[in-house]
Amino acid sequence: MNDKNLKEKSGILIGRMQPLHNGHIQVIKNTFKEVDELIIGIGSAQISHTVENPFTAGERTLMIKKALIEEGVEGDKYYIIPITDIMNNSTWVSHVEMLAPHFNKVFSGNPLVQQLFTEAGYELSKHVLFDRKLLSGTKIRDLMINDGKWEDLVPKSTATIIKKINGVKRLKHIVLKM
Ligand code: NAP
Repeated sequence: MNDKNLKEKSGILIGRMQPLHNGHIQVIKNTFKEVDELIIGIGSAQISHTVENPFTAGERTLMIKKALIEEGVEGDKYYIIPITDIMNNSTWVSHVEMLAPHFNKVFSGNPLVQQLFTEAGYELSKHVLFDRKLLSGTKIRDLMINDGKWEDLVPKSTATIIKKINGVKRLKHIVLKM
């Protein structure tokens, strides 16, 4: 396969993944029906230790890596890169292009992200949504704070990482300080 063909089958998926959950994994696995290679961008990489973004970019990288190993996804099929936020939405796509390897298809359920990439001329995939009633980062963080059962909503390895870093305790401390 020549370089041009490889480039034709590269996609990017950007999400905060706070934390990574089974919906993200389902979406990531589905992207491989459309692309050979996926760039997984960890959004808002500079933010951690807040209620909406409790985990660092490094912790989220580990969650994704371990979960994809668990799922049997080959390591040469994806890159994981941190993407920090910037002040200007109008230059954000250029910022992403500067940080990521080449891609030409975009996977996103976020209307702003879709709009910015469409304006920049990228092709959007239509099949990227998970059922947010069942799975959402907000719901999982709420369950953690309120001693609910969150473990089954995330990959096994993600639950292990969160326990290892005392993630639930961290989240509860952040909420108490508010
Ligand atoms: P987000 O703001 O993290 O998520 C928005 C909502 O969409 C969340 O509730 C999320 O659920 C949900 N969602 C994400 N992927 C989904 C999917 N495949 N199916 C159903 N729901 C989904 O947005 P994001 O799209 O995940 O991440 C976009 C990132 O780009 C953010 O970090 C944002 O800050 C960044 N961004 C930055 C700029 C800038 O710097 N100027 C501009 C545009 C975007 P979960 O919580 O369950 O994941």
